[in-house]
Amino acid sequence: MKIFNPATEELIQEMAEDDKLSVEKKYEDLHAAQPAWRRIPLKERITILQRFSELLEENLEQIALILTQEIGKPLQQSRNEIKGGIARIQWLTGNAEKYLSDEIMKSEKGLEEKISYEPLGVICNISAWNYPYLVGINVFVPALLAGNAVMYKPSEYAVLTGLAIQDLLQQSGVHENIFKVAVGGKEVGELLLQLPFDGYFFTGSYQTGKYIYEKVAPKMVPCQCELGGKDPLYVTDDISDVKAVAAATADGAFYNNGQSCCSVERIYVHEKKYDQYVDEFVNEVKSYKAGLPLEEGVYIGPLTRKEQLNTIEQQVKDAVEKGAQIKTGGKKIEGKGYYFEPTVLTDVNHTMSVMKEESFGPVIGIMKVKDDEEAVQLMRDTEYGLTASVYGNSKERAEKILEQIDAGTGYWNCCDRVSAALPWGGRKHSGIGVTLSHAGLRAFTRPKAYHLKG
Ligand code: NAD
Repeated sequence: MKIFNPATEELIQEMAEDDKLSVEKKYEDLHAAQPAWRRIPLKERITILQRFSELLEENLEQIALILTQEIGKPLQQSRNEIKGGIARIQWLTGNAEKYLSDEIMKSEKGLEEKISYEPLGVICNISAWNYPYLVGINVFVPALLAGNAVMYKPSEYAVLTGLAIQDLLQQSGVHENIFKVAVGGKEVGELLLQLPFDGYFFTGSYQTGKYIYEKVAPKMVPCQCELGGKDPLYVTDDISDVKAVAAATADGAFYNNGQSCCSVERIYVHEKKYDQYVDEFVNEVKSYKAGLPLEEGVYIGPLTRKEQLNTIEQQVKDAVEKGAQIKTGGKKIEGKGYYFEPTVLTDVNHTMSVMKEESFGPVIGIMKVKDDEEAVQLMRDTEYGLTASVYGNSKERAEKILEQIDAGTGYWNCCDRVSAALPWGGRKHSGIGVTLSHAGLRAFTRPKAYHLKG
């Protein structure tokens, strides 16, 4: 397999992919080693994962560089991602004892009723490239804390990061037969689906997620899918600082080049604030510095995958043909690297793919609405259900709107954020199951009921 730098199109490294025999061997090693890992006291597993987070901190610059080189994320955003991962590990390790220890539900003379949270066994994590630390940590850290062994398949676009994670986990004390990386793309993913894992945890697109969910179903083991989104954001008429709201919401749309599952993907603005908001938003986007992701101050790097340039180009073309206006951007940036100009479209509507299909790139459509009712109707008009956001001065008004949206997360005066203490998961085509929070810690366990008499 060849790994290219998306900013320069240079070959970074070539390496051998896994094959049927090698993944089978890795699975057998994991399966044989897992019972011993499970028997290690939880406190010790917590200490090991805390050491992993210290190693992420100690190696921050080096691993941020690897991440930037292989996926093209601006260096500061790579550092931010790893720091965000460290904060998540702190929450997960800090709460593991509370949520993974046995719970005595009843204790009276002659009878104890107890719940024990047993690990699933050997789990398979097939992952995405856009936030390999964050989406990886959501899965393999709680899985390891709960006593599982993990086969981790990083995306073919984030293999070097996957191997760096493996190296640091081993240095922190996770045995080499408890966490293993499967190297390769779709074909290696397919091989993993043929093995008898005790749970599958997938992060990626709806198309792949649906396929994996169907394939795993006959195994009768848990299969969680964290998938894409078309996340809406509504700006009401009672915002006071339009410039600040425009800047914050543009960041929600363009951070990591729009390649976040919870990127703001479509914006609705109350007609009373529409013109002013669009002006401020476009000014903000025009101020973004595009360039080589290793240069400090660059906010827009290349897209990670070359094919995505065509998806964005097609969405813009389709929108313009149906009457949209390009306020800024609109085309590929010529030269080396997979660059697309940050693009703002107005006069958009829901016949356009840019308002219905995941863009996963630096393009956003802004649409005028007359009231909250119209905003809600448009926000709900999607097959996805990851996040939704409302900006305005009234918490009550925002909550009333958000409760009508069928999404896993609601935001008021913020967007594109994740908290380790809260469940993270999508509805409808955005997925099934949650990671993070107490529910995400327990997602890697099976509760066993004990009725103890005597
Ligand atoms: P993808 O679906 O193309 O690939 C994801 C993973 O699946 C990769 O490791 C890939 O090698 C593997 N894969 C592909 N085909 C397979 C098959 N037939 N069998 C087994 N494995 C297979 O997605 P991507 O491009 O890596 O990630 C982008 C998508 O992920 C976007 O839709 C984004 O919104 C979503 N995402 C969601 C979340 C979330 O938390 N909800 C987080 C990050 C990314």
